[in-house]
Amino acid sequence: MAIINVSIPFRLIKQIEDYSRIVNEILKHNISFNILKFSTTSSGINLLLEVPEDKTKEITETLRSNDIQVDKKGRVILDEDKCIHCGSCISLCPTDALHFTNKDKVEFYGNKCIGCLICQDACPRGAISESK
Ligand code: SF4
Ligand code: SF4
Repeated sequence: MAIINVSIPFRLIKQIEDYSRIVNEILKHNISFNILKFSTTSSGINLLLEVPEDKTKEITETLRSNDIQVDKKGRVILDEDKCIHCGSCISLCPTDALHFTNKDKVEFYGNKCIGCLICQDACPRGAISESK
């Protein structure tokens, strides 16, 4: 599965039917997908979606042709100098990319990270940033 970040500007979703239309654009590829995160910003709605890897290109192209911004997510970076090993991020990580060692230190396995960014909001120290 791949993770994509979908940004839908408010101008495209003036009515509830507009939202259905966008979801249908994804469903017409005959796939199931998971919504990992739903958030709103001043400019629109952001959806973090988990979609089948082999359908990512098709879905991305369809959404972009409807004026919707799509980015494939990368991984995060853990700044060990800022981390105080409080563990707030660990319970939220869906892939166990963040976990405690037996010395109560947080360890990050980058190859397990799917870039969902759920941990970033949980960190009181700003120790987690999105890799570019
Ligand atoms: S972004 Fe954070 S919460 Fe998401 S998989 Fe990576 S380490 Fe875990
Ligand atoms: S939430 Fe931040 S400070 Fe706490 S363990 Fe995770 S990375 Fe470290």
